[in-house]
Amino acid sequence: SRAVTLASRPDGLPTPADFEMKTLDLWELNAGQVLIENVVMSVDPYMRGRMDDRESYIPPFELGEPLTGGAVGRVIASRADDLPVGTHVQHFYGWRDRIVLDAEMVQPVDTDLAPAEAYLGILGMTGLTAWVGLTVIGRFEKGETVFVSAAAGAVGSAVGQIAKLLGAGRVIGSAGGREKVEYVKSLGFDAVIDYKAGDVAGQLKDAAPDGIDIYFDNVGGEHLEAALASIRKNARIVLCGAISIMNGRAGSTGIRNTAALIGKGATMQGFTVGQYQQDHQEEFYAHMAPWVSEGRIQWKTTQRHGLENAVPAFLELFEGGNTGKMVVVLDES
Ligand code: NDP
Repeated sequence: SRAVTLASRPDGLPTPADFEMKTLDLWELNAGQVLIENVVMSVDPYMRGRMDDRESYIPPFELGEPLTGGAVGRVIASRADDLPVGTHVQHFYGWRDRIVLDAEMVQPVDTDLAPAEAYLGILGMTGLTAWVGLTVIGRFEKGETVFVSAAAGAVGSAVGQIAKLLGAGRVIGSAGGREKVEYVKSLGFDAVIDYKAGDVAGQLKDAAPDGIDIYFDNVGGEHLEAALASIRKNARIVLCGAISIMNGRAGSTGIRNTAALIGKGATMQGFTVGQYQQDHQEEFYAHMAPWVSEGRIQWKTTQRHGLENAVPAFLELFEGGNTGKMVVVLDES
């Protein structure tokens, strides 16, 4: 099996030289194990954090070792009774062609409900992140005004649509460039800001003259500053990601407006989805699966092809190369 490994710890924005393709030996199957051929794998901004050697909610990637991440594969040999050959399973060993895993380490997925790649996005980790961030951390209530950044991306596009489906009063998105703005509008957002056109705070004021109740922050920096200037009484700011500053040096956040939280009695809370998966996975799926199968929520992927293109696909996330969830298709058969 081929696998992408971490060759060096990136300094700032990663480059292709920080990664190396290696060949791995596959184990013989033991009882209770399956051999999986990966069909599609995820590349996610959060993986950048794991490339640094620092303490975090999830341990760093090890130098010289394969990267890991969400993937869906097909069982091609099995010594596990409930996972016959041909079963599609979700697991955490992307960034490689094939892997031998214990049956307990994989989760079968229903490819009749939605194609494999949906389980890496709308029905998977990014969909759950949107759900938990909005309903649990954001404590969303009907009629509220929600602002979300990186709104053309996997998490952001789900946040805005979930808010609408749950009865939001007004949903505002932010995305980079005209084409993405049009895409986000087509998802039913009430207003969309093009942050690359400048003055995020001014555009947000125009789009939400009465202010916002929830800001779902995927990018940090200028967007967070703008949101702080528009919060209403009892607003919640959900800190989900900070992609605009994640490749920078410590101290580059530059947020000056936090005093706005005081008078408004507002809260700002970060979260990582893994901590909420056990308690909220079921209610998430109970809502999302019907929305997906009934076509009430739209989702799309940007696809790159082949393991050798996984690193470039990952790097594209930091320049907005994706609309919807970025995935890498590994097996075209
Ligand atoms: P996306 O699909 O949203 O892809 C990233 C997008 O970020 C790009 O398409 C780009 O869109 C935007 N972007 C990149 N650089 C900048 C910048 N400098 N300023 C503004 N926008 C930028 O990725 P995900 O949906 O997977 O993740 C979204 C965010 O959520 C990330 O910050 C990620 O780290 C975080 N996250 C957090 C989790 C948690 O548990 N807390 C779990 C999963 C994700 P554009 O072209 O519009 O700039």
